[in-house]
Amino acid sequence: MILLLFGPPGCGKGTQAAFLAGRFHIPAISTGEMFRAERQAGTELGKLVSSIMSQGGLVGDEIVNGIVASRISRPDCAAGFLLDGYPRTVPQAVEFSALLQRKGLPNPVVIHLDVPDDLLVARLTARRQCPQCKRIYNLLSQPPKAADQCDDDGAALIAREDDREAVIRQRLRAYHELTGPILEWYGAAAVHSVDGGMPPDQVARAIALVVEAAQR
Ligand code: AMP
Repeated sequence: MILLLFGPPGCGKGTQAAFLAGRFHIPAISTGEMFRAERQAGTELGKLVSSIMSQGGLVGDEIVNGIVASRISRPDCAAGFLLDGYPRTVPQAVEFSALLQRKGLPNPVVIHLDVPDDLLVARLTARRQCPQCKRIYNLLSQPPKAADQCDDDGAALIAREDDREAVIRQRLRAYHELTGPILEWYGAAAVHSVDGGMPPDQVARAIALVVEAAQR
């Protein structure tokens, strides 16, 4: 089983990827994580992608297609895998499709976690962090015991720079611009949209149903 997971920043995609990996016994592969690991290890590839990543740009399609092709050839992917963060451009989707065909692998199950922008903005702007111990709170879902104070050390909680509304809206715009054409390329019939605005356990159940139905 090959799963592709799409979802906007702040939609809980990482949580769902981990859940799906456990439930279907497949590795969850994040190209962003792979690049971060290369960077940290100081490899040639890591050096190559480092400045692109710090500027928030996209790594070239050939490089990304190459690391995905080699990663999915590893034995742990024999029964399937989940990809998170790939494909990120239509040419990547085209090449990935050709790769699956060359390897005689089935078409992927495409899952799109759909969450209204306003809900994501509300969730992300409600994030607070303790400047001392770095603990994260959410005024909506995990509020501190005393208003605006860290439970552990009493420091005044702050909102992070990248959690400001204008920054979040910009990230969401960039996501929609990139992802829209990819979902269109796969076609409405192949894309399974799941309401990602529900609580995480309900989202997980909804995705599992979609995946099981697609396998039949
Ligand atoms: P992510 O953790 O998925 O947000 O990825 C972090 C960074 O890695 C991105 O901002 C890109 O620079 C790079 N990256 C990850 N996946 C891809 C991809 N499929 N295509 C191009 N660049 C990618």
